[in-house]
Amino acid sequence: MAAGYSPFQTAFDFFRFCCGRVPGQLVIQLSDRCNAACPQCDMNRSNPMARRRLGQIEMEGLIRLAAARGFRSLSFTGGEPFLYYKDLLRLIRYAHKHKIPMIRTGTNAFFMRAWNQAGYESRIKRMAHELSASGLRNLWISIDSQDPQTHEEIRGLPGVISGVRKSLPWFHSEGLYPAANLGINRLVGGADRRADDMDEKGLYQYMKESLAGFFDFVIELGFTMANVCYPMSSASLEEAPTLLPVYGAYSPHAMVQFQPREKAVIFRALREIIPVYRPRIRIFSPLSSLYALEKQITEEADFAFPCRGGLDFFFISARDGNLYPCGYRGQESLGSFSDWKRKPQSPCRLCEWECFRDPSELLGPFYTGLGQPGRLLKRFREDKIYSRLWWSDLRYYKSCRFFDGRLALESTRLSRGGWESSISDSAE
Ligand code: SF4
Ligand code: SF4
Repeated sequence: MAAGYSPFQTAFDFFRFCCGRVPGQLVIQLSDRCNAACPQCDMNRSNPMARRRLGQIEMEGLIRLAAARGFRSLSFTGGEPFLYYKDLLRLIRYAHKHKIPMIRTGTNAFFMRAWNQAGYESRIKRMAHELSASGLRNLWISIDSQDPQTHEEIRGLPGVISGVRKSLPWFHSEGLYPAANLGINRLVGGADRRADDMDEKGLYQYMKESLAGFFDFVIELGFTMANVCYPMSSASLEEAPTLLPVYGAYSPHAMVQFQPREKAVIFRALREIIPVYRPRIRIFSPLSSLYALEKQITEEADFAFPCRGGLDFFFISARDGNLYPCGYRGQESLGSFSDWKRKPQSPCRLCEWECFRDPSELLGPFYTGLGQPGRLLKRFREDKIYSRLWWSDLRYYKSCRFFDGRLALESTRLSRGGWESSISDSAE
């Protein structure tokens, strides 16, 4: 059973908004070990680096502290967290016992590969049952391309797509609705349709078509929820030399390298295509965030709300067990979580890590509105597109019942939306 928010947590978080804060999110990297081959990630299995893993007792201590300090969202990331499935399950149950309402994890689904072998069905059904009973709220499964073969080649996991297709109904019947997680790359459209050597117009068209193909593909696979990870490219790091990835989900590989102008084009393509698919699949990515990130690159460097990384959102690295403001400010270790004291931080907008940027953007108007209502009204008055997209996001999140991965998609709620009007409203 998912914990959900208690009345006390709701009241406390309202008070927190009034003080200019947002509910805390902690991403804990269990290990940087992985069994996949993804060239877009430094933790891939071919990298000869030494691998580390946080101990179970250490992890339980971190979870207790996170609960005591009022963190509402806890993500277990890797590497591949399911390499330690039994321990992961224990940690999810432990976090649930400590009343953390939003517990999330993700996988490359390697354990779904052997879909045509004896014992597969009973094994996956047992896992679906255990995960569903653990208190897990959201489970992500990575899918890199609209083309199954391209995805399996990128990941080095042949057979995984057939396994996902076969397994999803068993998860659904246990009341757990995994999300397809796309990391934007130049092969979203398939290996024979790469986004290489394209001008901005070509890239925009490519991304729109490929993203549509991606959403069609994951809907056909059986997903009812999806998320998009924005490109973390070395262009960001070149522009912001203070960034140093401590989270290895980054690589200088060409398939995920995009210049800032290209990223702006991608945000725009996403903002145009997501509303089309909103009635059919629950898509996390807020349109207001995509708009703000695009505008941050093209027009107004401080348009987006500052990221809550280092303020309310944090990352714990498997490398040293230390706390960081996020996965990309590796030069700013905050030391051990148990010794950490909250300190003022400068506003940061140095990267587009959606894990922190999307909720920062979506929650920005709440704490601004409660703390400095005049400032929020000014922003809404000055940028009507932004305010329309933000209200549309709120309505959509409510229709999706806040992306509770324990609840089935309700088509009637989503089809009422008129989400596509956001396209014409925002298109220039
Ligand atoms: S992206 Fe995920 S599955 Fe791929 S190598 Fe990195 S941690 Fe492993
Ligand atoms: S914008 Fe957020 S995630 Fe990116 S470097 Fe700054 S604090 Fe970290």
